[in-house]
Amino acid sequence: MPHDATPEARDWSRVAEALNPVGVSDDPVTVKKRSRDFFWYSPILNAELRRSFGDLVAHPKTREELAHCLAVAHAYDIPVTLRGGGTGNYGQAVPLHGGLIVETTAMNHILEIGEGFVRVEAGALMADINAALHPEGWEMTMFPSTQDIATVGGFVAGGSAGIGSVANGPLREPGNILQIKALSVEATPVEHVFDAENALQIHHAWGLNGAITEVTLRTVPTRDWVGCMVGFDDYADCYAAGYALASASPEQIARKLCSTVDARICDYFPRLDAHVPKGRHLLVSLVPREHLDAFETLMVRYGGTMHLAMDEAERQALKLPHVFEFAYNHTTLQVLKSDRSATYQQVGVPDPSDAARVEAMRIRQGEDVWPHHEFTRAGDVIYAADLPIVWFTSPERLAEINATYEADGFTVYDAHVHVIEGNHMQPDYRHLAWKKRMDPKGLLNPGKSRVWERVRHLSADEIEALGTQSDTKGDSNDTI
Ligand SMILES: Cc1cc2nc3c(=O)[nH]c(=O)nc-3n(C[C@H](O)[C@H](O)[C@H](O)COP(=O)(O)OP(=O)(O)OC[C@H]3O[C@@H](n4cnc5c(N)ncnc54)[C@H](O)[C@@H]3O)c2cc1C
Repeated sequence: MPHDATPEARDWSRVAEALNPVGVSDDPVTVKKRSRDFFWYSPILNAELRRSFGDLVAHPKTREELAHCLAVAHAYDIPVTLRGGGTGNYGQAVPLHGGLIVETTAMNHILEIGEGFVRVEAGALMADINAALHPEGWEMTMFPSTQDIATVGGFVAGGSAGIGSVANGPLREPGNILQIKALSVEATPVEHVFDAENALQIHHAWGLNGAITEVTLRTVPTRDWVGCMVGFDDYADCYAAGYALASASPEQIARKLCSTVDARICDYFPRLDAHVPKGRHLLVSLVPREHLDAFETLMVRYGGTMHLAMDEAERQALKLPHVFEFAYNHTTLQVLKSDRSATYQQVGVPDPSDAARVEAMRIRQGEDVWPHHEFTRAGDVIYAADLPIVWFTSPERLAEINATYEADGFTVYDAHVHVIEGNHMQPDYRHLAWKKRMDPKGLLNPGKSRVWERVRHLSADEIEALGTQSDTKGDSNDTI
């Protein structure tokens, strides 16, 4: 196949022809829409990324068609950006260097449901997987609050944790991802299989080092979950109740969501007006029906009042959203629906058991930073992440907010940076070594790693030898 000299000289109709029989769209509105994700949550990323567009969208329906797309991209030296639902927050799916956008949503078959696992094609929607699992008595260990439009491939490549992680850990917890299959970008793309122990080579690499075709995930027995909202007068009590719930024995109080939300944020939840009084700090949870009494007793001990408890049938009858749509990054979305000047940040809490320190930070940050914490659990260790609403005024004020967190030992995983290494995280050289093996021309999602250009001249083994610092938790930016 002939090569084009420069991107500007590329004849996209010829590329579209070469992609045949794969369906393509070159309609400018479609190409523009498929070039965006939820980066606009960040005014900083919005300014940086809003003018980055691809040139052509391909819609493969099978892994053979996906392989054909990658072979054509390789032959023409075209940048390729994989795209699932496009719900990432940092512009992960934005084609910074233009080129081909490969949308995977037609590769959506659920291939196998077995004892404790599900095997699916990369473009399957998380909500569809859960819907297929439930009648068989299973559910996913975790899913993002965007489950209705997010794909499993996008979650494994771009996400990190979600509803279920307070019970089952983050995605990277050993045993949650059982297998990933991914194609290389070569003249003849090769499908590589990454088993559980090697899944982290591909997980959370933002589609930089292979096109995921298939994923096998651990599943857990499903339960009769009840969505609960508990109100508190003080945020410190609400947070302390959250920590107590996250630490409780799962035999006594199981839970697959444990979020605490500052009352100022909850006042932006009009859908709850008829059910939850205004001005209350809320603990949002999903608890199995048989543990509701123990849950309420624990909440009352911290000064909480149960305002809402609804199972799935009751939720549908009340015409309310899922409770997790008031958690994770959906809190930011709820606020943005009424005021576009809001944004958010991602902050690790140094000692999740220390409610007083969290409260002191809440007061120190002042009126333009409203906290919201997500609790997760890996083994016996509890983690708390703050996803505060930040009322954005300037990059300088945002930097000041970040510095205030960091001065007291809180870790800022900056949500306003579009490279995988974030501001000052350790690079994951395993990811880049596999990029060298799977994508030797560096065509996949170019511009998303600031370290790649420095190491691409090395061999894969030399890159790997640079270190695997990201074995430790949370080094590269984690989307939640
Ligand atoms: C309101 C809101 C709430 C959110 N809540 C959560 C949450 O609870 N937990 C969480 O982890 N995240 C959350 N996110 C982020 C995001 O929704 C999830 O990470 C989601 O799973 C991404 O899936 P997607 O299909 O939309 O991926 P996309 O946005 O399409 O892609 C994400 C990344 O994966 C790459 N990619 C996509 N498909 C493939 C493939 N087949 N092979 C290789 N690379 C691929 C893309 O190139 C991109 O780099 C939230 C975002 C929003 C806006």
